[in-house]
Amino acid sequence: MKQKALNYLRAALNNSQAEFKADQWKCIDGILNRKKQLVIQATGWGKSMVYFLATKLLREQGNGPTIIVSPLLALIENQKEAAKRLNIIIKSITSNDSEEDIIETFELLKNNQLDILMLTPERFSKDDFVKNVLLPVSSSISLFVVDEAHCISDWGHDFRPDYRRIARILTYLPKNVAILGMTATANKRVMADIKNQLGEELEITRGSLVRKGLVLQNIIKPVISERLAWLAQYIPQLKGSGIVYCLTIRDIHLVTNWLNENNISAKPYYGSLSPEEKDQNQQLLLDNQIKVLVATTSLGMGYDKPDIGFVIHYQCPKSIIDYYQQVGRAGRGISNSYGILMNGEEDSSINDFFINQAFPSAEIVNDIIQALLTYDALSIYELLTKINYSKSKIDAAIKYLLAEANSPIYFYNKKYRATSYASTYSLDAEKIKNITLKRKIEQQQIREYLTNKDCLMKYLQSALDDENPQNCGICVNCNKNNQLNAEVDSYLVQKANDYLHGGSINIEPRKKWPIKYIFEHYNIQGNKIPPQLQLKPGKALSLWNDGGFGKLVRECKYEKNYFTDLLVEESVKLIKNDAKWPKDEPIEWVTCVPSLNHPELVPSFAQRVANKLNLPFIPCIRKIHNKMQQKTRKNGYLQVQNLDGVFEIDYRLLKSGACLLIDDMIDSKWTVTIIGYLLLQNSVKAVYPYALALNSQKEE
Ligand SMILES: [Zn+2]
Repeated sequence: MKQKALNYLRAALNNSQAEFKADQWKCIDGILNRKKQLVIQATGWGKSMVYFLATKLLREQGNGPTIIVSPLLALIENQKEAAKRLNIIIKSITSNDSEEDIIETFELLKNNQLDILMLTPERFSKDDFVKNVLLPVSSSISLFVVDEAHCISDWGHDFRPDYRRIARILTYLPKNVAILGMTATANKRVMADIKNQLGEELEITRGSLVRKGLVLQNIIKPVISERLAWLAQYIPQLKGSGIVYCLTIRDIHLVTNWLNENNISAKPYYGSLSPEEKDQNQQLLLDNQIKVLVATTSLGMGYDKPDIGFVIHYQCPKSIIDYYQQVGRAGRGISNSYGILMNGEEDSSINDFFINQAFPSAEIVNDIIQALLTYDALSIYELLTKINYSKSKIDAAIKYLLAEANSPIYFYNKKYRATSYASTYSLDAEKIKNITLKRKIEQQQIREYLTNKDCLMKYLQSALDDENPQNCGICVNCNKNNQLNAEVDSYLVQKANDYLHGGSINIEPRKKWPIKYIFEHYNIQGNKIPPQLQLKPGKALSLWNDGGFGKLVRECKYEKNYFTDLLVEESVKLIKNDAKWPKDEPIEWVTCVPSLNHPELVPSFAQRVANKLNLPFIPCIRKIHNKMQQKTRKNGYLQVQNLDGVFEIDYRLLKSGACLLIDDMIDSKWTVTIIGYLLLQNSVKAVYPYALALNSQKEE
């Protein structure tokens, strides 16, 4: 059988000399003997070849199809080629597929005409799928593959609630089904958890974690401008193309633009980028058409470019596992590559945020359940009106609850409802507390790695429970000759500083209200804001509390209660000269958003800006109610509702020409959108919003 498998391997790779990689045959043999296995091997080991060959041999023996559960369904080109050469028929079901496509795929499966069906774990949340598709064929399934199996473990770094459904799915499958869990990283704790869910008889095969040829180095530069300077100075000296990882989308844009300004071709990559742009930018890196892809962790699982010359972390990831997975993308097919870890003063607070977001709080869970018990059935939009949380938090909590074994809620007919478990349900607070604590320890561990003086690869191996950690001989602590210079030219630091302070921030106008029929006091109807009543594109001087002016804005607002003349001057410069802020109507007057709590702060600033612009300052907007502070309202619906009827315009003062609408800080943009609407309704020609700082948009 081994010879036969080898022949197929050679055919699949179109290489008559090809041999199995370590443990590949052992793994295939295990499948043929219907074993349950967990395979921990670095990316690039050739896992697709294992399930392709195993499926081929099983099907030849007259067995049923293979099911692969994976968060990423796209096969890369060489996998498609291999499947074709083996005559394996693979289909996947994605959320983009049409109803007809899906039915066709199901028919193929039921008629035993499909060799491999690939699914995302979310598919198991569809009751119809389990009942109508999986159950009728379940007795014939011969191999069940769980890709990225570490996602099963809520102790893991990448837990996905939908993976928890897999354990229940397994109970529908025949006892002798072969199970193959695969992951590139799993420490002992995660392995134990996977065993717990996939079966105690799971046999574990693990390869060494050492990445040969990867030179690890840490460069400690907490100050943003120095880190940017280093990137601009040293990336051109690195061979080939590579990845720069950042923690947030805002940093992605900051770094991408900076690199391009320094003639280093770079493109962004993050989860919410459009699928077309994601594909395009990944492809540009694959084809070595760009030097750098600047990415968040969403460029992770499944990305398989063999000749990545360097992986640089602009900010420190939240754990060693994250770091190892990401840096491991470097240099798989080349003899020499770099893995550079940098850190920033901002990392910890960002990572704390992610850690605290990982599980829903007891409060939100309780509020959701109470709302459903009270109102019987609520759509997501109705829920938003009942409880004060951001939509993203509510979405995440619902996803978590739906995947619970005895879920307190269910979804039916476009509405959420409470189940009979709702009144007794409680989160496993103890477990969540322990996991959160563990995340903090992991965070501490990567801080230790940053300043570790011994072999860096060995440190990673030990931290990940590798049984045989050894000095790598090539990291900068093993061999000083491999060290990249960490010094930066002072002119580049200055340039980076100018860049951080000079880049203005766009304020994109909102085009619709969060929901129809939201206003009781204002005469505003419908969901869409008519174009003539929308704001014009606006600008902010900085990002709130950021390395540029954002910090100064914060100090002025909360400590001095006065915006300094420097901020006036910089604002005037931006308003007058920013070439990236074209105004099709000339600004004729200036007004500002009023506040009852700080009645002088913004008007004094706006007045001084108007003086310097030689324009009249007309405080024509009054705040007539003090409702709750806008920043305490967590979703768009509640934010807009909180502004309904709050502002009044003194129409006698209005001028018809275009105006500049100034606020100190803009967050959700609803305040300026509503004031703009009221002004424009009363024949003001155009309204340009301007703010000292834009807070990161928590929700759209
Ligand atoms: Zn070393």
